[in-house]
Amino acid sequence: MKCTRLVLIGPPGSGKGTQATRICARYDIPWISTGDILRAAVKAHTPLGIQVQMLLSAGELVGDDLMIDLVRERLAHEDTARGFVLDGFPRTLVQAEALDQMVGGKPLLALVLEVPEAELERRLTSRRICTRCKTLTTSNSLYGSEEELCSKCGAVLITRDDDNIVTIRARLENYRRLTAPLIDYYQQRNWVARIDGTRPPDEVTRNIARVIDERMDLRDC
Ligand code: AMP
Repeated sequence: MKCTRLVLIGPPGSGKGTQATRICARYDIPWISTGDILRAAVKAHTPLGIQVQMLLSAGELVGDDLMIDLVRERLAHEDTARGFVLDGFPRTLVQAEALDQMVGGKPLLALVLEVPEAELERRLTSRRICTRCKTLTTSNSLYGSEEELCSKCGAVLITRDDDNIVTIRARLENYRRLTAPLIDYYQQRNWVARIDGTRPPDEVTRNIARVIDERMDLRDC
């Protein structure tokens, strides 16, 4: 059996969510977004949600132990038997080491989405998310005052709580300091593919798919 174990690494706004949904559909593997799992917990006021709410709205990282337990539990589900796309995990070296253990040291492919910081700030401040189907779009509204609707399902678009300039800068700083070193960690095993995230989304998807298909050796379960 072939497996596609993918880790998406990239700063906030680099297109991880958009690309993850497309890759999952293409390879028929589940999309595991730790940010989405945490946001859903906050919305539902679960004990986990209450615990992490402040960290999320400040753009700070949730503790490693909690995140590792959460992902270990998720990866135990049967739907990950043929692989997965991890979006937003690992974000620290401790998490990366824990993930290696979870998959029994089997190879992963770390897809690194590269986008310059000025472009990330521009994207994040104009980013909107659909309240119903969760599609991400870029706002055309200059002032963000008028109600905007999702082009796919017609529901109201909102700005994510943590997409404000203060929180965005904290998240970018955390990425630089804690997550970017993971690129070297995976590079040491030759498990890294760098992708130009400034290209149009369809082109980025094509480039990612090409890399995955070229590296079939990484796909044995
Ligand atoms: P994201 O949607 O991936 O940008 O994640 C949103 C927020 O969830 C982050 O700013 C963190 O507060 C938290 N978060 C998501 N994944 C992780 C993780 N692997 N480790 C720590 N915090 C995380």
